[in-house]
Amino acid sequence: MKTSEIRRRFLEFFEKHEHRVVPAGSLVPGDDPTLLFTNAGMNQFKDVFLGTDRRDYSRATTAQRCVRAGGKHNDLENVGYTARHHTFFEMLGNFSFGDYFKQDAIRFAWTFLTEELGLPKEKLWVTVYQDDDEAADIWINDIGVDPNRLSRLGDKDNFWMMGDTGPCGPCSEIFYDHGEEVPGGPPGSPDDDLDRYIEIWNLVFMQFDTLADGSRVPLPKPSVDTGMGLERLAAILQGVHSNYEIDLFQALIRAAMRVTGCTDIENRSLRVIADHIRSTAFLIADGVIPSNEGRGYVLRRIIRRAVRHGYKLGCQDLFLFKLVDDLVDQMGEAYPELAEQADHVRKVLKIEEEQFARTLENGMTILEQGIADIEGNVIPGELVFKLYDTYGFPADLTADVAREKGLDIDQDGFESRMAEQRKRAQSANKFKMDRDLDLALDGATNFLGYETLAAEGQVIRLLRG
Ligand code: ATP
Ligand code: MG
Ligand code: MG
Ligand code: MG
Repeated sequence: MKTSEIRRRFLEFFEKHEHRVVPAGSLVPGDDPTLLFTNAGMNQFKDVFLGTDRRDYSRATTAQRCVRAGGKHNDLENVGYTARHHTFFEMLGNFSFGDYFKQDAIRFAWTFLTEELGLPKEKLWVTVYQDDDEAADIWINDIGVDPNRLSRLGDKDNFWMMGDTGPCGPCSEIFYDHGEEVPGGPPGSPDDDLDRYIEIWNLVFMQFDTLADGSRVPLPKPSVDTGMGLERLAAILQGVHSNYEIDLFQALIRAAMRVTGCTDIENRSLRVIADHIRSTAFLIADGVIPSNEGRGYVLRRIIRRAVRHGYKLGCQDLFLFKLVDDLVDQMGEAYPELAEQADHVRKVLKIEEEQFARTLENGMTILEQGIADIEGNVIPGELVFKLYDTYGFPADLTADVAREKGLDIDQDGFESRMAEQRKRAQSANKFKMDRDLDLALDGATNFLGYETLAAEGQVIRLLRG
């Protein structure tokens, strides 16, 4: 079953159950300074959950494009390493705004997977929040799930938050067992991150609003927010384990082979490139342009990461912009706005690639010399900082190179230099923001949100009419 058909079947199923099919929101949440990019289907309904916005429907369903490349949900470093993470992906969701709650949410999800799509029940595993007896009871007694295939997990896995503030609640998740051939254990076991059991659907029982001081207040009405990864579901329905083996990704990976000249289809860099062309192209189509601050800076970093992987494959030419047509072939029908913006996207990518190709060449030479000179297996923080600060060579690229060569980075040394730098730059506000964001992206701190980010998204939209 192709991704387009899965998307359609999902929306139709919920439409049949009185859900309004609502168009997806932009990747740039223009009026929400707490959010870097749209990271879940519920984002556009945040105020409806909070009770400050009203709609003329109480059930909705969407296919929402999402980017998780910074902030609370950041999968940038997972791409190429796990079978299930992308920076850009599509989230299928159904929502109840004070309408149905746990019972129906669970029933709908189970019916869709096992009856509508016909997934075998014995391949599914469910989790609930540790003290959510109500959800456990529904799963076991109403749905008939084997209690041995249900785990209770804590805050990290089964309490969903959009960001550090906003609507949140305990959740219940459905996993798919890809079979004994794949290493890994069920949710809650020590090796549950090995991708044998892959999380496909998260049912969030929205009950609280987290305030800026960390306290939680109940929402006006208990609600439901669910999210299922389209690519993960496609992998199951196409009988493959990794998302990168589905039709859409295989086409993009083959396109990446064509433009980079790499002939090894298993090469991880191809997966990174296939992933990054999606996030960068969709971000540009949604109005972001590469820059030195805010959202544009995150976009710049993803582009640079893709280019670096092309360089690693031995590709001497500009290549990323050439993949836009292949992406439009795959996704243009579902996203006509992408097809319409193809020229603009290609142009922006090409300019950025050209600029970075020069930076990269310099930086790689310096890094390689530096690595040849070190004794032991730690890259000094001084070098990481110098590359970043003087040559514009991003720290995550240095980390990437280190990881490949089995080296460590003197993270403390790097961060103390970054801290000194920040002190020096304190007067220049804009500058400071870059540095903060950089740390946020590296996972050292959480992205807290800036008014200016939202403003930037709006300015760009104005410019682009
Ligand atoms: P994981 O634990 O695998 O990282 P998650 O718990 O962070 O997933 P949720 O925030 O619950 O994910 O999002 C809802 C659904 O969206 C997930 O169940 C999954 O199917 C899908 N999803 C989440 N992150 C990604 C991603 N980076 N790439 C592809 N699909 C994703
Ligand atoms: Mg995650
Ligand atoms: Mg999870
Ligand atoms: Mg989850």
